[in-house]
Amino acid sequence: MTTTFDKNLILDALRSVLPATGGVVALHEPNFSGNEWAYVKECIDTGWVSSVGKFVDRFERELAAYTGVKRAVAVVNGTAALHISLLCAGVQPGDEVLIPALTFIATANAVCYCGAVPHFIDTNEETLGADPQKLAAYLERIAAIDAAGCRNRITGRRIKVVVPMHTFGHPVDLDPLAEVCRRFSLVMIEDAAESLGSLYKGRHTGQWGLLSAVSFNGNKTITTGGGGAILTDDEELATRAKHITTTAKVPHPWEFNHNLVGYNYRMPNLNAALGCAQLEQLPGFLLAKRKLAQRYQEVFAAVPGIRVVAEPPGCQSNYWLNALLLDAEFSDQRDAVLQVSNDAGIMTRPAWTLMHRLPMFKECPRMDLSVAESLERRLINIPSSVVLGAGPDHA
Ligand SMILES: *Cc1c(COP(=O)(O)O)cnc(C)c1O
Repeated sequence: MTTTFDKNLILDALRSVLPATGGVVALHEPNFSGNEWAYVKECIDTGWVSSVGKFVDRFERELAAYTGVKRAVAVVNGTAALHISLLCAGVQPGDEVLIPALTFIATANAVCYCGAVPHFIDTNEETLGADPQKLAAYLERIAAIDAAGCRNRITGRRIKVVVPMHTFGHPVDLDPLAEVCRRFSLVMIEDAAESLGSLYKGRHTGQWGLLSAVSFNGNKTITTGGGGAILTDDEELATRAKHITTTAKVPHPWEFNHNLVGYNYRMPNLNAALGCAQLEQLPGFLLAKRKLAQRYQEVFAAVPGIRVVAEPPGCQSNYWLNALLLDAEFSDQRDAVLQVSNDAGIMTRPAWTLMHRLPMFKECPRMDLSVAESLERRLINIPSSVVLGAGPDHA
């Protein structure tokens, strides 16, 4: 059976879900319909706008409770959260860190900030994240385990950490991946930047990593303007993360004493105030996003040659960013779809350029990346703001 491909059917499907605004429908815009203004005003009225204040502590407490970890450390952005998570996991200059080739640049940059080398791994077509089986088969061939841990037999470097990333909010298959980590003496750090509110087997993503990073950038499910957090169940690591993200200052009522080269990565109180207000609305946001994803699923079921990426079995995705996936035979139509939708005022965009194609990462080690490369040719992100799924029940 041959199907014919019609990009105008895709445009019609998008139009049937999205409002006719006359303007441009954004890919993902923030939603401020709660206590944002009241909490931010409180910061300004009291003068507590900067690196100390009650909203930082409250945001950390509530975020830890929501995600089901013992501790959360709020920082300036998700990239900083990844950087410090890798340092706390013991990543050292010259180590290799396994990360997906299909990710946002922040994952690779954070590895480089540690003086370590990104080592690119392939993606599973169903989860859009790390493929545990393919990774295990690869490590079987290139890795040697000794007293010091895992070593890359080809480069001679230590492989310390694997960083799964929950693409567009869809959880990676974490249990088999954790098994691969145990087998090859690797530490897992989750890049959960996109997956706040996403569950794997009923538990929040971010609970599998020794430490995990989330982001509150303006385009994420909830935002603090810019911001991020480190999640962990390890009290000692949390205390250490807090210390090095706050200039490694030794607590004292008046003395300025620092015992490490630390970072000024702490989230300001103003941003945390925004975060507290956003967190209150997160359950409603998730319902709206799920509703929007369902509508997309329904209308695209009738369009040949394309499907909407759905949450993997056993998972609950936050549906941060919806994605269309063209059938392989129509991958040459991607740019035509991008063109026709953007021309119609509906913002769509392709996947990130894969990391191994970027000039600074061209020489980095990598496994066969054929699935990521196929996804890169076929993936199209479509508008996913909370407001688009908010019906009269939670407008
Ligand atoms: C958003 C994001 C980050 C962190 O980004 P910041 O803008 O620094 O908060 C990290 N990894 C991925 C995959 C992301 O999407």
